Amino acid sequence: MAENLILFTITPVQGFITTARKTEDLWLGSYILSHLNATAINQLYDKDGVKIIYPSIGDNSPFDAWRSTDITLPSFPNLFLALSEKLSIEELTQTMQYVEATVQCEFEKIARHAVEIFVKTVGNRTWNNTDADQLFKRQIKNFFQIYWVVSSRSGGSYEDWYAQTGARLASVKNCRAFYQVRESGRKCSLCGDREIFHDSRDNPMKWWRLFAQRRAKYCRQGEALCTVCLTKRLATDYFGQKFEEIKQLSFPSTSEVSTANFKLQIAKDKTYKEFVEVINTLKNDNNNQIEVTVNPVPKLHEIQRNWNVDGDWLFEESFSPQNLERYYGISEQESALNKGNKLRRELIKKVGFEPSRYFAVIALDGDGMGQTVSQAENSEAHTKISSKLNAYTTKVRQIVEKNYLGKLIYAGGDDVLALVNLADLCNILRELRCGFPNLNNGENPASTASAGVCIAHCKVPLGDVLERARGMERAAKSVDGKDALGIALLKHSGNVSQTVFKWKYPGVDGKNIDMVTVGENLIGLIKAGEVSKKFMYTFRDVFTRLTDLSGDLELPGIVESELERLIRRAVNEKVRSDEKVQDRISENIENLAPLLAEKRMKFDDFICFLEIVNFIAREGESDAAISETE
Ligand SMILES: [Zn+2]
Repeated sequence: MAENLILFTITPVQGFITTARKTEDLWLGSYILSHLNATAINQLYDKDGVKIIYPSIGDNSPFDAWRSTDITLPSFPNLFLALSEKLSIEELTQTMQYVEATVQCEFEKIARHAVEIFVKTVGNRTWNNTDADQLFKRQIKNFFQIYWVVSSRSGGSYEDWYAQTGARLASVKNCRAFYQVRESGRKCSLCGDREIFHDSRDNPMKWWRLFAQRRAKYCRQGEALCTVCLTKRLATDYFGQKFEEIKQLSFPSTSEVSTANFKLQIAKDKTYKEFVEVINTLKNDNNNQIEVTVNPVPKLHEIQRNWNVDGDWLFEESFSPQNLERYYGISEQESALNKGNKLRRELIKKVGFEPSRYFAVIALDGDGMGQTVSQAENSEAHTKISSKLNAYTTKVRQIVEKNYLGKLIYAGGDDVLALVNLADLCNILRELRCGFPNLNNGENPASTASAGVCIAHCKVPLGDVLERARGMERAAKSVDGKDALGIALLKHSGNVSQTVFKWKYPGVDGKNIDMVTVGENLIGLIKAGEVSKKFMYTFRDVFTRLTDLSGDLELPGIVESELERLIRRAVNEKVRSDEKVQDRISENIENLAPLLAEKRMKFDDFICFLEIVNFIAREGESDAAISETE
């Protein structure tokens, strides 16, 4: 019996996904990668004696497995591992060459489909054998690099065999010649690297100006993309032809996510319906109806069905003449706009708080996964890990999209990438971490996971937000023993605060301090108006005076009493004698004090933690509204 392991991977991943202006770019980047890996597995899974170990798909075809969960959610990782028990190494090598060619071909098909839509829209039907065609081939054909190895078992343990396979794949990656293509001319607005798609007979921007005019939903005036980024932007149409579920899909924008908790209050409201109708009548100056309808986050989908306009329209600034002109090409229609803006104000009055302009990106993955997997004693143990991760993905969907106001961009293996509304951030973080499965066997400590979060204004470029979230994930991963969380707050002004901490710290009496709960409690106290919003600033000022040059507290002994004094002073006069409030505050002091006094957290991290808590509490919701709506 010829036993072989097959390890396959597609790159680039991060760069390809992160290159995004719209949330839809992000989702489609992730979707294309997921689709390509499923395409690869599809060529192999039913071969005689072949078993796909990771990702776990059971006996199904990868597309059936995907469909049985959620075909709209990218959930295939960028690699797979398979075990073959019958085929010879020659047969497998041939098969894998075919798999590689199929994947490259599939990407070219997706790209060709997108470019066809583009050239048709701009009225040019012949582009074969032109410079545009040359450009297409240059940019698409070598975009994805595919690496794979077929590795025979040579005695030894499964662990050694798997380790050798991994090492061989790494060396193949290192050896493969990577040839850089020289890109000249005007560069793509999205990636900034590659030349924009055009035909050199014309002004390069001519097609793009026309395209933005005719398909404003896909392209903004002034925007021009390379072939790869254009493929991503228009890929919904290709996948829509394959899967009914994707046909009508539009991905919620960042402002749709940031306003989701506001929309939860108005989803069934008559005024909102009227508002949607008014916005839907708006036309741009070319007399085309502007495309304002988007899918809300999944949880709202259930309640509100068909009528929804992008969360952007709930912001005062969207009605400014400059923004109307810039984003929608509208410079007239005063009466409809005035009516819309009036209804918008009515909605805010009804709800009692302003819709938030801030949302969060969460990037989470398992700690030390390489090690966990390398300890699998045989392929069954390995498959078991894959199945546990599958179950986790199901749980993740439930948490982010069913229970709370979030939208997943990717969930597969041990990886999660999600956009979430600030009101549900704490709950989602806590449940994602608690739900992470233990993948180790008995002797080893339970598996842990770390996450990076970036809270950002919905107008901050999406690529920056994503990179920051990834950066915070890396910061969390550099904490000793990991199991940590890093959060950055990226304000519209460009100010950044960031903090890194463990999910849990040992507290008094052997109890753990759960940091997300500590944050959540503080948010609750501030939101309810029980603790003054100024508390954080006073705290920072008082304590900064007590730190030495290296930022460490000089007199940790006084932390508790000082913290207590400051919090009690910040308690609102009206509730000062309320025992319940007193209890809640004591509990928080009990939790916070050891973090600083025993130097569990660095002083700067602690201050930024408080700042971010304060920010979430204040963002959008006014005090009066809270007591009314909760
Ligand atoms: Zn590009």
